Amino acid sequence: MTTGRPRHPGDGWVECRCGRRHWGTAGAAGLLLVRPATATEPAAVVLQHRAPWSDQGGTWGLPGGARHTGEPALDGALRESAEEAGIDPARLRVVGEHVLDHGDWSYTTVTAVTTGPVDVRPTDDESLAVAWVPLDEVTDRPLLVAFGEAWPTLRAALPPEVEAGAAPA
Ligand SMILES: [Zn+2]
Repeated sequence: MTTGRPRHPGDGWVECRCGRRHWGTAGAAGLLLVRPATATEPAAVVLQHRAPWSDQGGTWGLPGGARHTGEPALDGALRESAEEAGIDPARLRVVGEHVLDHGDWSYTTVTAVTTGPVDVRPTDDESLAVAWVPLDEVTDRPLLVAFGEAWPTLRAALPPEVEAGAAPA
């Protein structure tokens, strides 16, 4: 989106029938990574504080972005979250996908649960910060509009054990 950024097939705006513009000619995908509750810490998710120059800059959302042309949503979500937040895809287990389909464009949220310690940090210039945020504190932050709309549905679809703090099977 900046002039200095390498472009890939799939980078570009879509004029959507919903009346808005969306980024990603092949759609977009993001990762909702959940860290299960423990005896001392509540369950948390990784949120990205979006750089000021980006679409809805300054809000918090999921690490993610435009899929490359022909790239499966799962691959796009894992690639983007590795690029932006340093998330190692070997340390998570995918548990679901949620597709928001606008006809001309779609956004796929890939939900995953950590299988071990995962350190997150901004690893490119699209993030001001990347943080683990307890589930109950997500809505305390200014959220990317589409993420804020989707969050209740995404949270309700989380595996029950992540909030219960049960040991993983
Ligand atoms: Zn749309």
